[in-house]
Amino acid sequence: MPSIFSRIIAGEIPSYKVAEDENNYAFLDINPLRPGHVLVVPKHETDYIFDLTDEEYASLTLFAKRVAEAVKCAVTCKRVGVAVLGMEVPHAHIHLVPLNAESDLNFFGEHAKVEAEEMQRIADAIASHMTENHPELF
Ligand code: AMP
Repeated sequence: MPSIFSRIIAGEIPSYKVAEDENNYAFLDINPLRPGHVLVVPKHETDYIFDLTDEEYASLTLFAKRVAEAVKCAVTCKRVGVAVLGMEVPHAHIHLVPLNAESDLNFFGEHAKVEAEEMQRIADAIASHMTENHPELF
């Protein structure tokens, strides 16, 4: 059975896509900690992030850096925080969360409530910065 993220990458399940390259895919977390919370996943399905090959890991983290730069441009925040959990979905992924305070990166606290229209607006804004900063990825 492909993971839910593989099904998103294949286009079988909708997502608020923000960026894609040959090896990786980025989209908004459906239950964001903060508006602009993005997940970055490798297209090659592997459960545990540290089981990725060196090449896959390097590609994923470099891609995440580029996406984080676009998030920082699109969403008002002091920094973009990074987290890896993988306790829920068995397909390696990096969380990128816009931060204004340490407490914004609290997976046990209250999550943001972001309407579908606002999710789409944020995804489009991040995607547009990605296209501007890294046209080679598109
Ligand atoms: P974890 O595996 O613990 O890192 O958590 C998985 C993350 O994936 C959670 O933050 C979920 O909100 C998110 N998630 C699960 N299903 C979807 C989906 N269909 N689209 C976007 N995000 C999802």
